[in-house]
Amino acid sequence: MPAVPAYRRVLIKLSGEGLMGEREYGLDPKMLASIAREIGAVHAMGVEVCIVIGGGNIFRGVAGAATGMERASADYMGMLATVINALALQNALEKIGVHTRVMSAIPMTTVCEPYIRRRAERHMEKGRVVIFAAGTGNPFFTTDTAAALRAAEMGVGAMLKATQVDGVYSADPRKNPGAQRYDRLTYMDVLSQDLQVMDASAISLARENRIPIVVFDLHRPGGLAEVMRGEGTFTIITDEE
Ligand code: UDP
Repeated sequence: MPAVPAYRRVLIKLSGEGLMGEREYGLDPKMLASIAREIGAVHAMGVEVCIVIGGGNIFRGVAGAATGMERASADYMGMLATVINALALQNALEKIGVHTRVMSAIPMTTVCEPYIRRRAERHMEKGRVVIFAAGTGNPFFTTDTAAALRAAEMGVGAMLKATQVDGVYSADPRKNPGAQRYDRLTYMDVLSQDLQVMDASAISLARENRIPIVVFDLHRPGGLAEVMRGEGTFTIITDEE
């Protein structure tokens, strides 16, 4: 097994739902601890790690808008939900001795640092895991788009998208046992076939900036470290056929 990780710096996109474990809502401490271990293992390989975290386990703007709330206000609530998740993940990582910083796109200086690109890079160079909270700081966006944006700003070697399954399938494999799994895809395949990976703006941003997207299973113990060594099962999305 090659000891050298495939990437020097990566961005990991975690959805809020990934933090729920078996729960219907909110945070599962066991799940947080297990995600922290996965991230800690990659950090211990000497890889610079930053994370964009979602908020769907707590609040989604579209859900608020569906109940009659103004969409922009609902989206701000969603962004605040990501800050809650960021603090929870920070806590889980620091419990296992990984140094972290939370940086929010919406400044709240008594809780965490405001997002400053050059400072974020400096934190990573010093071996700190940086958790980006509050998405892009703008309503009408998603944390997937925030992930692609920060990945471009941080100049990462790859964006690792954590999901509930081991890659991209032609349909949801949990509902459709005949769904086909892909090892490799192009950004255009994802866009033209409307494959459910990340939203179209995130895919386009990754494509423009030639950031490979690696889709992997968050629930496989040791899976993240395997992906970092280029092993295990995952789907990689690039512009090469
Ligand atoms: N959000 C936003 N702007 C952003 C990122 C997120 O308004 O740049 C809001 C939006 O309402 C979204 C919510 O935050 O529904 C939570 O983020 P998301 O749904 O992307 O989380 P995930 O699906 O990854 O858990």
